[in-house]
Amino acid sequence: MFDLTGKVGLVTGGNGGIGLGFARGLAKAGASVAIWGRNPDKNAAALAELESLGAEAATFACDVGSEEQVTTAFAGTLDRFGHIDAVFANAGIGTRGTRFVDTTLDEWRDIFRVNSEGVFLTLRSAARHMTERGEGGSLILTASVSSVMGMPRGEHYAATKSGAIAIARGLAVEFGKAGIRANAVVPGWIETEMTDGVLDSQGFNERVLPRIPRRRWGRPSDFEGIAVYLASDASEWHTGDVITIDGGYTVF
Ligand code: NDP
Repeated sequence: MFDLTGKVGLVTGGNGGIGLGFARGLAKAGASVAIWGRNPDKNAAALAELESLGAEAATFACDVGSEEQVTTAFAGTLDRFGHIDAVFANAGIGTRGTRFVDTTLDEWRDIFRVNSEGVFLTLRSAARHMTERGEGGSLILTASVSSVMGMPRGEHYAATKSGAIAIARGLAVEFGKAGIRANAVVPGWIETEMTDGVLDSQGFNERVLPRIPRRRWGRPSDFEGIAVYLASDASEWHTGDVITIDGGYTVF
């Protein structure tokens, strides 16, 4: 049921963190995997890892906030693999923790450029390809618990993540007839480069960790299974949903 042999998955921000977790899951289940990221060293290391899992894999240097680069990377991915079945719009940047009153318009726009415009550009290319191909597909957006819980000093970040959920719902309705499903994944607090220096702080360990019923931070490996499910035919009728993977944080 979860065999992905013959399927192709694309993960933006797939060279590290949660994205590499998605990519590893896809690779282990037999899919071919394309990952996009800006850093060539991280791209190369992730490629070596995916290939060591036996997957056919490729990386593309791409800043998802650039329309030109997304168009080029999408065409390159199609050239390499012929088609794409599942697209994870996952690349994102975090908040710098600036107080709301001190946040500049440039800082606000930087976050929107990657987390919102990047998602739009990636999924527009994906939806165009999937509708032209006529065999459906799966679109996945990485949101955040900040879309449902207040995030001080991260209102811009949270706005992009609430937006991701809204985009997933819209796409699910607009493209349902074409056999294309769209879902948002909501990670809780996950140990990645983005949260480096945050999760090991005393404040987080004293105030946040005790509010996670599973009593540990999330890991990229916690996202392997959901990637396989959402890319597989097992999720064929599952669309417009928000799937929370947070160790129980938001229900405690
Ligand atoms: P990481 O910093 O580990 O990974 C971010 C990824 O995005 C990297 O692969 C990075 O690659 C890529 N990236 C960043 N900017 C761009 C860009 N402009 N163009 C293309 N790729 C880009 O963070 P996470 O794995 O934690 O984050 C992944 C997603 O999960 C993000 O959308 C984040 O908002 C979300 N998230 C994370 C949570 C957490 O606790 N960690 C919680 C909730 C949501 P490169 O640097 O090479 O470009």
